[in-house]
Amino acid sequence: MNNQSILIVDDESHNFDVIEALLNEYDYELNYASSGQEALESLEILEIDLILLDVMMPNMDGIKVCERIKAIPKYSPIPIIMVTALTAKEDLAQCLNAGANDFISKPVNALELRARVQSMLRMKQQYDALQISLDRQLVLEAEKRELLKYRNAELERQTDEAHFRANTDDLTQVSNRRCFDDRLQKEWQRLKREQTWLSLILIDIDYFKNYNDFYGHLSGDDCLIKFAQTAVKQLKRPDDLFARYGGEEFMVILPNTEIDGAIAVAESIQEAIRNLNIPHKDSKVSEIVTISMGISSVIPTSDKSPQHLISLSDKALYEAKYQGRDRYVVAIS
Ligand code: GH3
Ligand code: MG
Ligand code: MG
Repeated sequence: MNNQSILIVDDESHNFDVIEALLNEYDYELNYASSGQEALESLEILEIDLILLDVMMPNMDGIKVCERIKAIPKYSPIPIIMVTALTAKEDLAQCLNAGANDFISKPVNALELRARVQSMLRMKQQYDALQISLDRQLVLEAEKRELLKYRNAELERQTDEAHFRANTDDLTQVSNRRCFDDRLQKEWQRLKREQTWLSLILIDIDYFKNYNDFYGHLSGDDCLIKFAQTAVKQLKRPDDLFARYGGEEFMVILPNTEIDGAIAVAESIQEAIRNLNIPHKDSKVSEIVTISMGISSVIPTSDKSPQHLISLSDKALYEAKYQGRDRYVVAIS
């Protein structure tokens, strides 16, 4: 720790010499200012631990200087000892009222000066130590808050990721069966209340067993990925859902959508898949991979369940296959 530093403010430099001589045996760093203005300037550039302040000075007297210093927050913790030839009780009271911490009478007595200076410097040291530990505590608390914030964000990210994985098909990265079941149930309830249309498209790749047999299972996987990633991009509304229903069958949920809207989506998926132009030499309907679709629309009611809508689409899909594949069939009820 550095030596403690004292600022002696007195318009007569001789008084500085006197005090310097009396404090000579201590390791204090002594600084001198000959006026209040100079004292304030010194505080700007020096780390001062104690001020010995003469009361009677021209221009700005010690009382004023004391008030000024105590009014500045960064200087107010510095103890001030007034050095005064005045001994009237009113004068001493005035010093204390101005914020002075102690006073010494002139002519200065060596024992008194040393005792009061030591006492004030001890107090300042304790104050500094407390300040340092408070600052440290503030830093620690800020760090703790930062850590907590980071942990919360990480937890949220992990939860999001777990949710994503639980609802996503590993192979195709579109929504999975579980997600589909949840969503269909929710939309069914919602649209039952709203009494509006809910549409469902069941999509099945044509002759996909042949595709696997001809090109291999891994190529079959690639085909499923390409198909799903292309089809999902054809959905435009945030509430629409494209999901892998199982194997090479996929589902599209279209809430608040009548049959015309559902047909438009089905046609857009069909066209997108044609544009993919994936060769399928062993298909019996085309040179490329094609799909068949069953489309259904209902306004949900209490006497029916989502399963009703699924079986409508299933029947329509069966009909599409029966009619020759690479097409869609519509079922409304
Ligand atoms: P259809 O035109 O009547 O739909 O004939 P299909 O051959 O497409 O229908 P089927 O249901 O007989 O065959 C479906 C095939 O899809 C059989 C199965 O091995 C394949 N399949 C299901 N899931 C996967 C998968 O994750 N990867 C691959 N590569 N093939 C799969
Ligand atoms: Mg199938
Ligand atoms: Mg198939």
